[in-house]
Amino acid sequence: MAHVDRQTWDVVVVGAGGAGLRAAIEAREAGMRTAVICKSLFGKAHTVMAEGGIAASMGNANEHDTWQVHFRDTMRGGKFLNHWRMAELHAREAPDRVWELETWGALFDRTADGRISQRNFGGHEYPRLAHVGDRTGLELIRTLQQKIVSLQQEDERVSGSYEEGLKVFQECTVTRVLTADGQVAGVFCYDRESGRFFVLEAPAVVLATGGIGKSFKVTSNSWEYTGDGHALALLAGAPLINMEFVQFHPTGMVWPPSVKGILVTESVRGDGGVLRNSDGKRFMFDYVPDVFKEKYAESEAEGDRWYEDPDRNRRPPELLPRDEVARAINAEVKAGRGSPHGGVFLDVSTRMPAEVITRRLPSMHHQFKELADVDITAEPMEVGPTCHYVMGGVEVDPDTAAASGVPGLFAAGEVAGGMHGSNRLGGNSLSDLLVFGRRAGLYAAEYVGGLRARPIPEPRSIDAAEAEALRPFSAEEGGGPAENPYALHQELQQSMNDLVGIIRREGEMAEALQRLAKLRVRARRAGVEGHRQYNPGWHLSLDLRNMLLVSECVARAALERTESRGGHTREDRPEMDRRWRNVNLVCQLADDDGAAGDPDPALGQIRLSRRETPPIRRDLLELFDKDELVKYLTDEELSR
Ligand code: FAD
Repeated sequence: MAHVDRQTWDVVVVGAGGAGLRAAIEAREAGMRTAVICKSLFGKAHTVMAEGGIAASMGNANEHDTWQVHFRDTMRGGKFLNHWRMAELHAREAPDRVWELETWGALFDRTADGRISQRNFGGHEYPRLAHVGDRTGLELIRTLQQKIVSLQQEDERVSGSYEEGLKVFQECTVTRVLTADGQVAGVFCYDRESGRFFVLEAPAVVLATGGIGKSFKVTSNSWEYTGDGHALALLAGAPLINMEFVQFHPTGMVWPPSVKGILVTESVRGDGGVLRNSDGKRFMFDYVPDVFKEKYAESEAEGDRWYEDPDRNRRPPELLPRDEVARAINAEVKAGRGSPHGGVFLDVSTRMPAEVITRRLPSMHHQFKELADVDITAEPMEVGPTCHYVMGGVEVDPDTAAASGVPGLFAAGEVAGGMHGSNRLGGNSLSDLLVFGRRAGLYAAEYVGGLRARPIPEPRSIDAAEAEALRPFSAEEGGGPAENPYALHQELQQSMNDLVGIIRREGEMAEALQRLAKLRVRARRAGVEGHRQYNPGWHLSLDLRNMLLVSECVARAALERTESRGGHTREDRPEMDRRWRNVNLVCQLADDDGAAGDPDPALGQIRLSRRETPPIRRDLLELFDKDELVKYLTDEELSR
């Protein structure tokens, strides 16, 4: 074994977005020496890009809002596939987490009487999103970073070192979670700049690595979102659930091509923006599904009145959950009623004064002016669906965020599954990060505190991780030309976009699995030239393993689920089927010993099984009308 630096910590947090930072703060406050490691620069995580706000039933904009209403909206949005306990904890604890941010220095926008202002978002019954203009994620990350620095200053006063109790390793990537006798023992990492390998030994690892969007061609996600945490969990032996549910946000930019997919925040619609087709028609009124009919306006006049008088009018259908709006846009474009560049029109210019637009939506104004030369105060935007968020992720215990089956492994934020069911409501991610990030840090610390002995990573697993990471430098050995990692990535993204995208068909998903199997064989020969110092081609070669694993999970689970629900739409099975209401599809590595190498590529790497979800607690079911439950629950559940 070549020399690999080793350091010892109590808790390692992989990811420095909202979930990771909140977990790290909690673990450090519980007295654990905590390391945070992130692929990009500290402060540059997806969370920083979040625009619209944090959903929390503070009741500032409408006093009728409570955690129970938030719970109800979240379950409806997820079409009742959410883990009810996660949805409950999330709705109950989100307001405290927002208040906590203010005590740490965040400053949210205010109402006229000085309370935290809350805005409308799709699927939320009341205005609920605490926000800072359309730059909420920036304020969230800035505040958590500031809290981390203040903890480091405390440590310095006691120990003389800022990094004694809490250290951030930035621009470093984890490629393996190391185990010993099935328990977490640390992580194997490389420093992106120097290419140097190192091991962080720790009995608890919190995965907080975000999403998988870079497996798709059109996405709002940035370069780091290659499903690393999902893959790390699978390779360590932990299952993933709900992977068929990928959220296509209805409004990404469609023009110019270089920025296709970049997000246009839902706040645009929340604040009054409307969707129109090429005939100028507000088409969303034609797309209200039966389950939502009673809750949405039937006419433009009623929808418009709702902004001023929400208690006596129903909300406009532009504010349906994202999956519904994305499908409607897709259908309009397909029917030939799209905009010149293949989207539809999103208009605020005729809905509010220019001064209000630039004050409430400064980033959107800037984004369209700079990137598309469109002034959104004077003309409509062109928008279309973009791959945005993955509902699926690591199966976790709802209270402790502990991953199933691997003691010492925890997961929080977008990498964890269950909370959002088949579709996430806007604003529910930032609150999810804070609620479950805190819980992951807390219970990781408790787990470490309760250990009698610390597992030590096995030397052979470190050797194997090192050999795996170095393979792209010797791809040509053993004959045959090396494969170009960029070409492989493009083929993967195109396949996922075309064959497992917003509208799915059985034959196409089966074809996707075949293409993925071939790509996986080729990816083993992904080769790079040069050396280990800042070599992006090498980094991508390593990321391909992760994207191929998660893509197979998505395709396999999507093929298996023979219904349409939330972020999973099948042309051949267009209806939601109540018999699938309480079924989770569980993805596990086919060859449980991931370190031993990929299993037979023809068979795939993922084993799929079905698991019944736990029954929803009775008092929570009683929050819904019986008429509504009949639309969702299985016959057995209804008879119980
Ligand atoms: P992230 O913030 O994505 O952070 C992941 C971290 O993991 C990063 O630090 C990354 O470098 C690190 N990482 C990844 N892989 C590795 C590895 N192998 N080794 C080391 N580090 C690794 N949600 C809302 O609720 N409200 C909004 O208004 C909203 N707006 C959004 C706008 C945009 C443009 C986008 C893209 C998303 C938006 N979302 C919003 C969704 C939300 O921002 C994300 O779901 C959320 O920020 C994910 O947070 P996270 O902590 O789970 O991960």
